[in-house]
Amino acid sequence: MNGPLLQVTDRGLYCEAGDFFIDPWRPVDRAVITHAHSDHARRGHAQMLCAPDGVDVLRTRMLPGAVIDAVPYGQPVAHHGVRVSLHPAGHILGSAQVRVEWRGEVWVVSGDYKLSPDPTCQPFEPVRCQTFITECTFGLPIYRWAPQARVADELNTWWRGNRDAGRHTVVFAYALGKSQRLLAAADPTLGPIVCHGAVERVNAEYRTGGIELPPTRRVTDLTREELARGGVLVIAPPSAQGTPWLRRFQPCETAFASGWMLVRGTRRRRGVDRGLVLSDHADWPGLLAAIEATGCQRVLATHGHTAVLVRHLRDRGYEADSLHTEFVGEGDDGEQESPEPSSGNPTEPLVAESAAPEPTTSEPAGGVP
Ligand SMILES: [Zn+2]
Ligand SMILES: [Zn+2]
Repeated sequence: MNGPLLQVTDRGLYCEAGDFFIDPWRPVDRAVITHAHSDHARRGHAQMLCAPDGVDVLRTRMLPGAVIDAVPYGQPVAHHGVRVSLHPAGHILGSAQVRVEWRGEVWVVSGDYKLSPDPTCQPFEPVRCQTFITECTFGLPIYRWAPQARVADELNTWWRGNRDAGRHTVVFAYALGKSQRLLAAADPTLGPIVCHGAVERVNAEYRTGGIELPPTRRVTDLTREELARGGVLVIAPPSAQGTPWLRRFQPCETAFASGWMLVRGTRRRRGVDRGLVLSDHADWPGLLAAIEATGCQRVLATHGHTAVLVRHLRDRGYEADSLHTEFVGEGDDGEQESPEPSSGNPTEPLVAESAAPEPTTSEPAGGVP
């Protein structure tokens, strides 16, 4: 093997020495899957490896009969002399970073990750390495998340106010990960919580996986009085906007939960009353802290505003570069509610730099270094 330990090929991030791919975007024989969001977990691979917490969630997104092996966090497996191990990424249930070691060389592929606490998955664990391939969805200094407790307060205070005014509260969030995190933050003593079917399916997978979530009700179980009174918290995927299912909850106030909500233009475009700034990706300080914690010398940045992060890291003495991949970051594609296997057409290939849903020039919300 002459090339680097991991390299981008037309089918995805490839380890030639071990002959496997990590989150490949075309069907391959052997794929290590960091997590079940659709831009990382495509269908059609002959064999997949993931963390045990992620197996059930991943399986429901694959074709029937998909071969998925699970390896516990931290336990290395060897393939052609290459040691591979998975480590918690703190992104969603079962999300993993991938550590690859060969002849004394150690690379870590972050997958998607966040450092903020999240009761619905294992916390991010820094892994020492020489080369760190990091996601960089929110790789601009303007992106700084408020503590999770403050977002929970905001959600519950708003819900209580709506309830007292006889209105329902509707939050749009991606079905896998974000919705469960919101649910875990909601105060069930305030009123009934109803999740859209796409969210409820994932809730069931989380509960099976031992994650405690507040009780949820089916809309059909609500009494006419409960619907008329207002005060229901509804969690639904963005695609439920404007559907008959949602029209039952009137009058209501709406919000969209996403890191992009930090930028005002996105909120307007989504046509909701408010934004809840809640992301399952690292913010700018989180990215820098995660990179530092690896002790690495070299950083390769994927999806998002990689150029800014790369420049920032080079100024601080790192060897840094952008890595051209087809991951899409938070939102518009990859973290949609999971498509059904029948509709699993590959989407238009996107390159990391052009895939950022929010142009950096849209809002004067802060400075770029
Ligand atoms: Zn993801
Ligand atoms: Zn991603």
